Amino acid sequence: MEKEKKIKVALIGNPNCGKSTLFNVLTGLKQNTANFPGATVDKKTGSARIQNNAVEFFDLPGAYSLNPKSMDERIAVQILEDKNHADFPDVTLFIADASNLKRSLFLASQIIDLSYKLGHPEIPLVIALNMMDIVEKRGMEIDVALLTQRLGVPVLPISARKKEGIEELKQALVSPVGIPSQPILSEAMKTGRSEEQLTIDRYQRITELLKGCLKFRDRKDEEVFSSRTDKILTHKVWGYAIFLLILFLIFESIFVIAAYPMQWIERLFIFFSGWSAGHLPKGEATDLLVNGIFSGLSGIAVFIPQIALLFFFIAILEDTGYMARVSFIMDRIMRRFGLNGRSVIPLLSGVACAVPAIMSARTISNWKERLITILVTPLMSCSARLPVYTLLIALVIPSKKILGFFNMQGAVLMALYLIGFFSAIASAFVMKYMIQSTERSYFVMELPSYRTPRWKNIGLAIIDRVKVFLFDAGKIIIAISIILWALAAHGPGNSFVEIEKKYNLPATGSGSPVLRHSGAETEQGRNGAAQNEIHGKMAAAKLEASYAGIIGRFIEPAIKPLGFDWKVGIALVTSFAAREVFVGTMATIYSASDQANTLSIREKMAAEINPDTGQPKYTVAVGFSLMLFYVFAMQCMSTLAVVYRETKKLKWPIIQFIFMGTLAYLASFSVYHILR
Ligand code: GDP
Repeated sequence: MEKEKKIKVALIGNPNCGKSTLFNVLTGLKQNTANFPGATVDKKTGSARIQNNAVEFFDLPGAYSLNPKSMDERIAVQILEDKNHADFPDVTLFIADASNLKRSLFLASQIIDLSYKLGHPEIPLVIALNMMDIVEKRGMEIDVALLTQRLGVPVLPISARKKEGIEELKQALVSPVGIPSQPILSEAMKTGRSEEQLTIDRYQRITELLKGCLKFRDRKDEEVFSSRTDKILTHKVWGYAIFLLILFLIFESIFVIAAYPMQWIERLFIFFSGWSAGHLPKGEATDLLVNGIFSGLSGIAVFIPQIALLFFFIAILEDTGYMARVSFIMDRIMRRFGLNGRSVIPLLSGVACAVPAIMSARTISNWKERLITILVTPLMSCSARLPVYTLLIALVIPSKKILGFFNMQGAVLMALYLIGFFSAIASAFVMKYMIQSTERSYFVMELPSYRTPRWKNIGLAIIDRVKVFLFDAGKIIIAISIILWALAAHGPGNSFVEIEKKYNLPATGSGSPVLRHSGAETEQGRNGAAQNEIHGKMAAAKLEASYAGIIGRFIEPAIKPLGFDWKVGIALVTSFAAREVFVGTMATIYSASDQANTLSIREKMAAEINPDTGQPKYTVAVGFSLMLFYVFAMQCMSTLAVVYRETKKLKWPIIQFIFMGTLAYLASFSVYHILR
């Protein structure tokens, strides 16, 4: 008997379209795995009987396009291009993810056009519109008949997971229809030469084909509103202008609105410190409470309003659907810089914290683009830098209005965020040429419909983030504040006693200089300004002699060219635990050298005099030098740990650390010498 001829059906589709699920549904247990000839890529085959036909299914590797950029895509192209290839199919079964139709049809239309170009339009293609259950759940409808007519090939709605539409699909596979006599993207529709332009043209063509095929049930008004709004928000000029304006308003309001609760919190802690110092028994324990714990706590608490506000805005942007539009318009730019439209989400989340942001880069399937995103995301100014920025801005930038309406401090803050953003983009551009890869990926995102924000979710998100900041970062801040207090309140040998002798004040030998000075508020009143000055000088001398001073002095030569002294040196070292520790550290250092505990940290720093010049220590040059150092330096152990985990190589966090450190040093050095 003559051997029955099998119908060879090749399954092809984007990764995650449900190809494996459908393959299992179609073939059951009759499966084999081998390799594609000359490749290490798995080739799954399986057989089934459909209406007296023996059908052999095999699985082509998942691909996004027929522009062969990866090993997997190359195999698919080799087979589909070559009629004499051993695996050339009788029928191609394309599996489209119906919930992501635009992206799926990109490859499907390429396959149709390939057959057309090669001159064998008789090769049948069947499109299975998978995941229809998701489409329905989302309240969407796909006009399958219209789509079939437009594409010129059979389109069958199915759900591989729910095993719906499978019989109809099988029928279609054994009743072949050729491909249409016209390509989807004809030569006349192509506007450029380059591959990139062809991609854009193809997507435009698919958008045209899909017009009227996708419907939202009972959502007509919403659809009209969405498409009108999208026209503006994704406009070539207005889209970017609106995005910039929104960013600007967010940063301005963070400064203006947050200023009030910040003041209340500052005052509350000043009251607590003053009260405790005046009423609790004098000794190490009270000193620790007032100068270690309280100063650390206020350093954290005072920034809650800003962080809450920032997350409030981010949550609104996300919940309304605007964030997706931002990703969409940014794709045009991102591509040029070795990034991906999807990189915008990690980059923008980097404004909150690089740790979750780096993890969110997992959605980028292209390894190189993902790696670049991971490497540059920490350059985005995270919320941990916000406390540092606001402290330094308030210290050296006057709260003046420019052009009569916008606040100068807000403008500088926005500039710092933009410097972070642009340096991230520029670094990505450099890395694009330095990191080798042949992979390529395509970005399309279906834009979600606009919706009014769900306030409860936003509220919960804010509480969650603030909690994370308070408890995760807070723990480290408190611990370091206590360590610092210990380092600042003690010195080697009997150096403290010697200093007290020198200033001719009663020796106590231990405890921080701070305690006596907080208690000295009344003493101060009695003995006047002269006494006050002696106390101040003694406190400064003690701090210099303390362990903290010794460490700070040790690193001072390295940071002096940046305009930093040993006090800043200590803060730079401690903030490797978390950047915002800078503030707590400065609070501790300055409360340890201060006369009375009634000044806020900012005022204390502003009052600091540079012994070399007799002028305030924190000049505009020093302030900007420090700000830029914090914009660039990789001062975050948690981020480095996450980068290691995500890249699985020690090499990348090390490269990132050195790269960002060098940038920080050079930037601070330059700005300090220019502004001085
Ligand atoms: P492949 O990468 O194309 O092989 O995709 P898989 O078959 O592994 O499917 C990817 C994911 O989509 C899995 O979690 C499947 O369970 C799910 N999936 C596949 N088909 C359907 C479907 O029709 N409906 C839904 N809701 N999920 C599906």
